[in-house]
Amino acid sequence: MTKTELTAGPEATERAGAELARTLAPGDVVLVSGDLGAGKTTFVRGALRSLGVEGPITSPTFVVGHMHEGASGPLSHLDLYRLAGMSGEDPGLLDPFFADDAIVFVEWPEQATDAFPAERVKHRVRLSHTGGDGRRIEVDP
Ligand code: ADP
Ligand code: MG
Repeated sequence: MTKTELTAGPEATERAGAELARTLAPGDVVLVSGDLGAGKTTFVRGALRSLGVEGPITSPTFVVGHMHEGASGPLSHLDLYRLAGMSGEDPGLLDPFFADDAIVFVEWPEQATDAFPAERVKHRVRLSHTGGDGRRIEVDP
């Protein structure tokens, strides 16, 4: 069942990410979809904070991903936007991010659907603009 929440600013979207993070266990993957500026990175920032990341959490737009050490193990934050159509890419490129005990957040998952282990996907999150600073956050299942 899809859970829908409306937020009126980035702080509320971070709180939604933090709330989702409480349901996660090592090995889980969370796909985070939405247009540019919809709040994907903001949502993941809230999740990573609540999982114990203390340093800066920036968008991995210009690298494929960042790895953090959380309170209970490795945390990966990927942005697959630039992987679209890179079929010649080294297939092992993303392996370190998907270590067995890592919790993984994936922005732009639809750009490279074979880049993550489907059987590990715990939640699919979709963010969308509702006007101004408003955002709709839908979480499956
Ligand atoms: P994405 O990763 O989807 O491209 P970001 O999280 O990087 O999006 O950026 C979202 C931008 O929108 C930020 O500048 C943030 O401050 C702003 N913003 C305004 N309102 C909201 C909201 N309700 N939720 C999330 N971000 C918001
Ligand atoms: Mg982003």
